[in-house]
Amino acid sequence: MSESVLVIGAGLGGLECGILLSKAGYRVTVLEKNAAPGGCIAGYWRDGAYYDTGFHYAGSVGPGETLDVIFKQLGLGNLPWQPLEGEEVFVDGRRFFLPFGFEAYADALSAEVPHCRSQIGAYVDFLREVVQSPLRHFGEGQAMPLFSQSARSWLEAMIPDPLLRKVLCGASTRLPYAPELPLYSFAQVNGSFIQSAARLEGGGETLVKALVRALEATGGSLRCVAGVTALETEDGRVRRAVLEDGSALEADIFVSDLHPALTNALLPLSALRPAYRKRIAALRQTDGFTGFSLRFCPGAFPYPRRNYFLPPAGLFFSVPPEEESALTADILVPGTRPDEAQRWIFAFDALLPGLAAAVESVIVSTPKTWENYLGLPQGSAYGIAKDYAHPLSTVLSPRTPLENLFLTGQNLNLHGVLGVSMTALYTCKEIV
Ligand SMILES: Cc1cc2nc3c(=O)[nH]c(=O)nc-3n(C[C@H](O)[C@H](O)[C@H](O)COP(=O)(O)OP(=O)(O)OC[C@H]3O[C@@H](n4cnc5c(N)ncnc54)[C@H](O)[C@@H]3O)c2cc1C
Repeated sequence: MSESVLVIGAGLGGLECGILLSKAGYRVTVLEKNAAPGGCIAGYWRDGAYYDTGFHYAGSVGPGETLDVIFKQLGLGNLPWQPLEGEEVFVDGRRFFLPFGFEAYADALSAEVPHCRSQIGAYVDFLREVVQSPLRHFGEGQAMPLFSQSARSWLEAMIPDPLLRKVLCGASTRLPYAPELPLYSFAQVNGSFIQSAARLEGGGETLVKALVRALEATGGSLRCVAGVTALETEDGRVRRAVLEDGSALEADIFVSDLHPALTNALLPLSALRPAYRKRIAALRQTDGFTGFSLRFCPGAFPYPRRNYFLPPAGLFFSVPPEEESALTADILVPGTRPDEAQRWIFAFDALLPGLAAAVESVIVSTPKTWENYLGLPQGSAYGIAKDYAHPLSTVLSPRTPLENLFLTGQNLNLHGVLGVSMTALYTCKEIV
């Protein structure tokens, strides 16, 4: 009889681990506390319109690129990706259009800042090398060098021109440029989007449905409204998961897609050393976002295949059912700012004239929304903040002190669809 696996949490990471382990012959059940799977990548419908929430676009999706390769392995090779042209970054009153694709990106930027052409070339070459050899830099141990270098110091040494540095860090919502940011996170995240970026027709909902279909096709199963309230242990192993309804499920292996502090909270006090609990509880979280989800009057605003960054905010359109005019879009701003909808709509309107007049309604979410819905500590968008000065304590292993309990998801190495997918492979490699 094959070994049984319980995955706790049907976010992207939990579903991906479920598929990979089920394909590898394990008997997998994924447990989700909410009524619907998907976690951060799940969108929602309101009054006939679909709204994306924590997934607007992904990087490295072109043929043979990292996410494409992983998705094919997961049975997600036929998703309706819609390639993006590029992104517009507004800094110091200037507009920079940066097309995706390494050469096109370098050429466009060099045309804007010609005296920095050679530095731009070296910058893009470095990002390309990181993105094209992901396993060389990902993980722990020998792979730590780029995790233990400061992105800020590297960038200051590489790019002396302060305006150019601002442009390169302009996509601030996809990767907040924090002082402790490791070079690896900076290079992998920005590099993968520059390599190629795309939106999905049907948004996060398309991805979640495809993940659930792939899980079920491999023999795995998903149970929603099945929140885990405790993990019971015996002899240094987890024995069973207790669910909200009081029932308990046994398994040979447990994988948690939850924040590691939440995973620890499910375990009895005696199961972990106090120092381990304290270390995980003390880790800093990345910021959460306030989101202004815009709905446009039909036909009132053209649909762009671009993202827009006005640091610290970003504007992301969802693929509309009829492609000519936009239906919904999200403005994301770090922190809790629920009363700033007008300010940001008009700030983007100054760059995209007609935007404000086309808005029919706005739905506001804050970090508290994310905390309440998914349990994300402080509503953090990207989980535990990685710190180049402390890579060994902020870049976490999938292994835990309990032999048969593993971690996955954005809190370990890297956030985002690409980062979580790479982490799922990493977790499953440890198990298999
Ligand atoms: C506003 C925002 C915008 C983003 N935009 C993008 C983007 O455009 N592109 C991109 O690549 N990335 C984006 N991201 C990041 C990306 O969405 C996340 O990195 C990724 O989805 C995290 O997946 P996960 O599986 O690690 O965690 P989660 O999605 O948090 O999944 C954890 C799951 O566990 C469930 N759960 C919690 N407690 C329990 C329990 N006790 N029992 C059972 N289940 C439980 C939760 O309900 C949830 O479904 C964005 C994130 C945010 C917040």
